[in-house]
Amino acid sequence: MTDSVGAGRKILLVEDNLDNQAVYRLILEHSGFQVILTERGDEAVEIARSELPDLILMDISIPGMDGWEATRILKGDDGTAHIPVIALTAHAFEKDRERAEELGCDGYMAKPIEPRRALAVVVEVLEKTGRA
Ligand code: MN
Repeated sequence: MTDSVGAGRKILLVEDNLDNQAVYRLILEHSGFQVILTERGDEAVEIARSELPDLILMDISIPGMDGWEATRILKGDDGTAHIPVIALTAHAFEKDRERAEELGCDGYMAKPIEPRRALAVVVEVLEKTGRA
């Protein structure tokens, strides 16, 4: 992995916690990704449709519409179903992992997430889904 692993790829970061926004944005941009940020689920759906990001990091507990609902809409829409979604949940509950799988999420992370591990999961999912 190099600093340019992102190579201008677009990541939609859906996160309402300011500290998490700053941490993920920093490590993603440092790795060459372009980061689009929103803290709202309804806006995440709109942005995903217009920007067609290469991957979405989706916090589940967000205003507007929760991350499950936003993911359900995006995975049910032919225009956005192909975009990999990594769910970010507050707890490592087995039911959350199962729900992420049911909704078609391509990855799942329980907070707190060490930034370098988050980056590794992003790269792994991009490779797995053929978008790296
Ligand atoms: Mn949140």
